[in-house]
Amino acid sequence: MKIFCIGRNYRDHALELNNPLPEVPLIFMKPATALLTDNKPFYHPDFSNNIHYELEVVLKISKNGKQIDQKFASAYYDQIGLGIDFTARDLQDQCKDKGHPWEIAKSFDYSAAIGKFIPVTEVDLDSIKFQMKQNDKIVQQGDTKDLIFDFDYLISYVSKYFTLQQGDLLFTGTPAGVAKISIGDHLEGILEGNKLLDCKIK
Ligand code: ZN
Repeated sequence: MKIFCIGRNYRDHALELNNPLPEVPLIFMKPATALLTDNKPFYHPDFSNNIHYELEVVLKISKNGKQIDQKFASAYYDQIGLGIDFTARDLQDQCKDKGHPWEIAKSFDYSAAIGKFIPVTEVDLDSIKFQMKQNDKIVQQGDTKDLIFDFDYLISYVSKYFTLQQGDLLFTGTPAGVAKISIGDHLEGILEGNKLLDCKIK
């Protein structure tokens, strides 16, 4: 399986990091070894002093496909959940300055935490409200109506370049409010009032 991630897909988040708004989706990938499942703790690696959480709505791909037309895209994902795209912001800034790829900052072991998934039929995909809590305080509030590129556009766009396979994951971007994690933090991801993700930082 593979993990696709979309960068800068919410205007307020792109601007908070002084990034331009993308004209096409910004895609990067994480390997299967980046997965952190079952609400296991995230052990803070020692290669970064500034790891950020980024809470994102995640689509689970339900069947194989390539070059998928936008109007058929919704048939390729049937479950939705929340994930944290853990990002070593200090390493990412260094990579960006040098014009280098981001993998060491974005795709390291356990950098893709995922929680419970629910059927897409349980939510209004055009306006899913989701929140991140850090130590009981709400630090991110997103609504998928604010996506620059919506789910079906992303499925179509990503599948132009990469064959989607059942079980692949698509992290759809983070809203504003990203910040540093510290050892001892408790992170919770809530989607329409349901806690789907719980992660302690150790
Ligand atoms: Zn992200």
